[in-house]
Amino acid sequence: MEKFPAPSFYAHRHNHNACIHSALNKAQHICAKKEIRFTRIRQQTLELIWSSHKPILAYELLRTLRREKHNAEPPTVYRALDFLLENQLIHKIESLNAYVGCHFPDKDHISQFLICTGCHQIAELEDANVNKVITRQAARSGFQVAQQTVEIRGLCPTCQNL
Ligand SMILES: [Zn+2]
Ligand SMILES: [Zn+2]
Ligand SMILES: [Zn+2]
Repeated sequence: MEKFPAPSFYAHRHNHNACIHSALNKAQHICAKKEIRFTRIRQQTLELIWSSHKPILAYELLRTLRREKHNAEPPTVYRALDFLLENQLIHKIESLNAYVGCHFPDKDHISQFLICTGCHQIAELEDANVNKVITRQAARSGFQVAQQTVEIRGLCPTCQNL
C-alpha cells in the first residue's frame, strides 16, 4: 500500500495490521533489550493505541480496555500509559490530550506532529534541526527549554484530494 515518505501519512485504506504488528514487535524487542517487562496490560494498551493512526483519549482507552479486559482498572491503565510514555513507545498530543504510537521507538528523539484536521490522522516528524532552532532561539532570550511541544494542524495528502 502507498506510504508517503517522511512524514508518513497513510492512505485511508492500507494494511494497518502490518503497522500494529511492526509496532508490537519493536516494543517487544526494545523491552527485551532494556530488560524491562512488557506485561500484558502494557501490550494491550499499546495495541489499542495503535488501533489507528488517530490519537486516542485516555478515557476511550479505559472504556475499551474495561469492556474487553476485566482487570483493567484506571490506575493500572494509567501506569501502563506512563510506562509507554517513559519508554517512548507512545507520545502524548498535548493539544488534544490524547495518545498516539511512536514511529521511531528505537531512536532517542524529540518529535513534531502533523495533525490532519480532516481524518484526524497524525504523522510524526523527528527533525533534529527543528529542535536546534527552537533551543537556539529560546537561548537568545535567555530561556532554557525543558519541553518542546510542536503540533501543526492541516490536511494530509488524502484529505487534500477529497
Ligand atoms: Zn497503519
Ligand atoms: Zn516518536
Ligand atoms: Zn487526513
